[in-house]
Amino acid sequence: MTALRTSPGARWLLGAAALATLALGANPARKAFVRALVGRDGQVPMDMFLGTSSGPGLAPAARVRVVLLDGLGAAAASELPALSAVCAAGQELRIDVGFPTVSLPVQAALWTGRTQQQSGLQYRATQLEAPPAGATPAQVPDSVALAESHPEIVRSFGFASARPDPSRDPGDPEAWRAEFPEHAVAAVASASRLVHVHVLRVDEAGHAAGAASPAYAEAVRGADELLARLRAAGPADALWIVLADHGHRPAGGHGGEEPEIRIVRGCVAGPGIAPSPTIATIHLVDLARALADALGAELPSDARGRPWTDALADPAPGATLPRPGALRLAVAGLLAALGLAWGVRSDRSCAWWRRVPWALLLALVGLAVMHGWPSLSDPPVFAPRGLQLWLACLPAAALALGLGLAGQAPQAQLAPALGLLAAALVLCRAPEVWLLPGLGLGEPGPPLMPRWSATVSVLFVVVRSLAEGVALAWLLRPLLRRARSRMRAGA
Ligand SMILES: [Zn+2]
Repeated sequence: MTALRTSPGARWLLGAAALATLALGANPARKAFVRALVGRDGQVPMDMFLGTSSGPGLAPAARVRVVLLDGLGAAAASELPALSAVCAAGQELRIDVGFPTVSLPVQAALWTGRTQQQSGLQYRATQLEAPPAGATPAQVPDSVALAESHPEIVRSFGFASARPDPSRDPGDPEAWRAEFPEHAVAAVASASRLVHVHVLRVDEAGHAAGAASPAYAEAVRGADELLARLRAAGPADALWIVLADHGHRPAGGHGGEEPEIRIVRGCVAGPGIAPSPTIATIHLVDLARALADALGAELPSDARGRPWTDALADPAPGATLPRPGALRLAVAGLLAALGLAWGVRSDRSCAWWRRVPWALLLALVGLAVMHGWPSLSDPPVFAPRGLQLWLACLPAAALALGLGLAGQAPQAQLAPALGLLAAALVLCRAPEVWLLPGLGLGEPGPPLMPRWSATVSVLFVVVRSLAEGVALAWLLRPLLRRARSRMRAGA
């Protein structure tokens, strides 16, 4: 058997083709990944242990009033007079809403007691065709919900009445927005057993201008004033549950698992709630259980929320977050190590410090400085062209170009970057729910995992920008060599 030998010219062509494929293909692949991430529902198997529970559930309440202040982060919620009055009259909470921190899936957890991983509702933003099995509102005959905007969310959970109602309310969103407070006050004051008011102005201001903006602060103030009106109008015997579904980044955005987005302030007061000076941390599925108990509703059998007193006693930190298992971590670690080893061994003739993947490190530093740890709350992670992330990698691409022109092998930078990308893909379940289904094998699902899904999107951009630098160096090298030899011949 003779070894296959390729001429230097053919090797160069092969290398150029491989590098061009990587440089040009990384962003389309990233786009397809992000589309699968946000465009697919699907359950995510996870071990969730919230302890064994034996304590009593919340006693039935004649009326329950649920006010959800969409997008109100815990920091912005801390000083609000009306909200704090509810907390002072009852129990202040920090509520872990689970992951992802997206409004409709979080409300699904509130109304069914099942986490986003159990329901399979992940990035869902459109109305559900039918209320999920066991949804609490569908079990309360006169349940009422009002939404300031985005009525598709309250219309998803089986409320007997959901407004704006196309048959009697204005179709124009601005006209409805103007009427919404008085209808909300009237509903809260009514005899209905369950009234849910979904306030959205804070989330809208967060998306438009960020949580650090004056517009957000103004919306927060307005939402709290509305809460004060609702409280004043509500029946004296009502159980009040006031909460948010997620916070917002200072520059706007939510969806990720970071505590400042995921853990919100909640206040519960009324019959059955002992006023408490301490703040308890619970999970949203625990609150769902309390809500169902107060309404005499039956949650789905796999709802894990604990009875009220048990939930207050044990914060069970992070218990409702999915995380990669030990095997997945081991495979990911191996892939990252293999990529690094391949890169470092690419040219053993030069000194060790020349074999460190400096351009990759520079890309990671650039991204960390400009964007922080990758999060699904950061809008550039979803941007189709990834321009903002790419700009953060530009110095790294220039360094990769320089190192390549100086003679460094392409894999010195690219192999470690590809190793990291492969590791992050494994950690976010991409192989079985995105890559293999793309080849017709297995069931597609969302490649969704706290931290790692956002990391994949970012690492695609890293691979792309390093490949661009390295590819350009590869294309320029023969010209450079020819120019050098010509200069030498001329001298
Ligand atoms: Zn939002």
